[in-house]
Amino acid sequence: MLFKDKSAIVTGGTRGIGREIVMMLAEEGANIAFTYLKSASDAQILVKEAQSRGAKCLSYQVDVRDFDKSKELIEKVKLDFGGLDILVNNAGITKDKALMMMSRDEWLEVVDTNLGGVFNLTRNVIVTFLKQKSGLIVNVSSVSGIIGLSRQTNYASSKAGIIGFTRSLAREVAPYNIRVNAVAPGFIETDMVSGLKEEYKNELMKRIPLARFGNAKDVANSVRFLLSDAAGYITGQTIIMDGGMSLAL
Ligand code: NDP
Repeated sequence: MLFKDKSAIVTGGTRGIGREIVMMLAEEGANIAFTYLKSASDAQILVKEAQSRGAKCLSYQVDVRDFDKSKELIEKVKLDFGGLDILVNNAGITKDKALMMMSRDEWLEVVDTNLGGVFNLTRNVIVTFLKQKSGLIVNVSSVSGIIGLSRQTNYASSKAGIIGFTRSLAREVAPYNIRVNAVAPGFIETDMVSGLKEEYKNELMKRIPLARFGNAKDVANSVRFLLSDAAGYITGQTIIMDGGMSLAL
């Protein structure tokens, strides 16, 4: 068990990639606090499932766009779990649209959730990590933030921002034994991707050398590695798992 008795926060744990990360942490012996926005019943089911693996697991309804609520969350989790060792910033949304049709609200909502959420949680965790001179952070970016994807100017900007945030913070907190890394998944089969049109999915598939969409386990496996001692000399990096989609021709 890689994370026995460590305490972790995962944002957006109820579905897709976040859910798989919660279960991976449970299987590796961690105690887990996860957040969600709306899916209260999914949250209850996941808490039970993680607890059945022997983990302490609690869910918290917190909008990652809310700085003050994020601060309250961190203080609450520290009390509920007796400490905090790991933060996985996973919560994210898309509102894909051609730029010429994109409203300011669609821009702001995506950037505020995806990048603002990373700031809100990390800003409120970092003092604890600095004081204890240890901590592990993994941020969920996207291949869209690296290669750019049409109709995703809002999303790609937020995800590229996460990579810059990761690199800067990694430098800043390395002297305090805190590692900060990111993962950049390609197309992963979750609710976020199931809404895409079949034609577009077929088009995308042609651009993926491994000829399949990824699954949430592919992402959780990389998160496990980055959080483990096996990655003890890795900080400020972004691991891409996209079936080779971002490789240059
Ligand atoms: P899903 O849409 O399946 O799940 C999103 C999760 O984020 C849910 O738990 C949701 O909570 C939560 N969430 C959304 N908005 C907020 C908010 N404002 N405050 C708190 N929680 C929120 O997404 P995926 O699992 O597909 O994606 C997870 C992460 O991976 C995202 O950051 C995404 O950008 C990234 N990613 C996904 C890819 C993919 O192909 N799926 C590819 C590359 C990156 P609730 O259930 O309550 O709504």
